Formats: sequence, structure tokens, C-alpha cells
Amino acid sequence: MMGGRVRTRRQDGRIHLKTAAELALMREAGRIVALTLERLREYARPGITTAELDALAEATIRSRGAVPAFKGYRGFPASVCTSINQELVHGIPSPDRILAEGDVISLDVGAIYQGWYGDAAISVPVGEISPLAQRLLAATEGALYAAIAQARAGNRLRDISAAVQAHVESRGFAVVREYTGHGIGRAMHELPEILNFVPDHSYDMGPWLQPGMTLALEPMVQAGTWRTRSLADGWTVVSADGSLAAHFEHTIAITDGEPEILTRL
Ligand code: MG
Repeated sequence: MMGGRVRTRRQDGRIHLKTAAELALMREAGRIVALTLERLREYARPGITTAELDALAEATIRSRGAVPAFKGYRGFPASVCTSINQELVHGIPSPDRILAEGDVISLDVGAIYQGWYGDAAISVPVGEISPLAQRLLAATEGALYAAIAQARAGNRLRDISAAVQAHVESRGFAVVREYTGHGIGRAMHELPEILNFVPDHSYDMGPWLQPGMTLALEPMVQAGTWRTRSLADGWTVVSADGSLAAHFEHTIAITDGEPEILTRL
């Protein structure tokens, strides 16, 4: 889940580096998020409602001794964000939203385990989806892995932003500019703010990446333009042009070697 609109503030606040013991707790929070997303992926079939998916998510998270991170966050009413088709992020589950063949649903889950956060998202096909939708999902997931490949000590934050943008735009899609990834740890949103693009004429390379940094990387991609708008419910963000949208996210840790994905089984 994103912190909100890009504030383009200077990134000179403190970035919290985690100890090995803290990373162990974040790994458990991440594992619970991953397990929950795998169950949601299985159940995301035609005929199920997004409220049923939410109940499944909350039960899974609590059964592992964790707490849903999104429920009650700034008043968000559910444990999972369910965003369908032109909905990009922050969709609210409802008993009236029934998944249909050909939909794309983005599922965003957060869990708190012993005070530590995990946050991840996947976009999944409901039954058979169009070739365009398949390309959009592949480009967005690919952008996440391009970002993770840059998440190493000695690189700078901008290397991640540039990798996402290049991956997405070379495939003919648009990377959303109004929402960002974020540091994560004892809070869902810590510094740094992680852009998925490099602003024109910016020479800011961002902070150096260091072992112990934990980041929620989350490309958000649209088939049309990058512009978005918010619905009257105060949460749901949709593509401004009504085009299809997708979102993939992992919480990762920077190490001395390969980046570690915390939100996987
Ligand atoms: Mg997030």
C-alpha cells in the first residue's frame, strides 16, 4: 500500500537500518503476507466477491499470529485492497463486487508481526484474460524484478526508479507517477520515498543503498497514460483514461550480496 501522493520532499530524513534480529521478524511478517496472497490467488475465480477475499485474507493473517496492517489504517475498512481492471490501487472489498471471467484483480496485503510490517501486492488474471492484459501483467511484474535487481549496496535509489521506468516504457506502457514505494519496518511507511520514474531534469541520485535497508518496491503501471484519479469513496485510485492498470509489490532487504525478498514463501 502506498503512502499517498508524491510529496517530492527532500530525502534527508533518517533511513532506519535493521539488525539481523529485526530482519528475522520482518521475514516472518513477509512470509505471512506471501502465504495470504497465495491463498487469494487461488480463490480469485469468477463468481467470488471481493468481500469474501477480504474475509479469507484476514483469517489467514490472524491464524499466523499477525494483524492485518491495512485494516483501520487512516480508516481503511478492510485487510486487503482489491482493485479490478481500471482500478489501480486501494480498492475497497465489497459483497457487491463479483469477479467475472476476464477481469484483472490487484490484491495488496499488509501484515504486522510482533510490531514489524510486511507489504506486498500481485495482479492476477480471473479466468482467461486478453493478450493486452497478459502483456500488462508481465511488464509490471518484470518491472518489479528489474527494481529488485538494482536493490544492492553500492547502488543509489535512483537506479531502482530508472530500472522500473525503462522496463515499463520499453514495453509501451505508462508508469504511474503520483504514487510511490517506500521504506518499511516498524511502520508501514518509512523513508525513503521510492519513485517509479526519474523526474525530468532531476540530478538527484537519491541515497546510497546500504545493507539493512528494507524497502517496499511497487511499480504501478497503466496501459494508457500515467494519470490517475481518486473515486468519491476516498480510497479507490483509477486510471484517469479508464485503461487497464496493474500493481506488483515486494518488501525486500538490502544485504551485502543478493537482495532478499522478504514477502515470499
Ligand atoms: Mg506498499
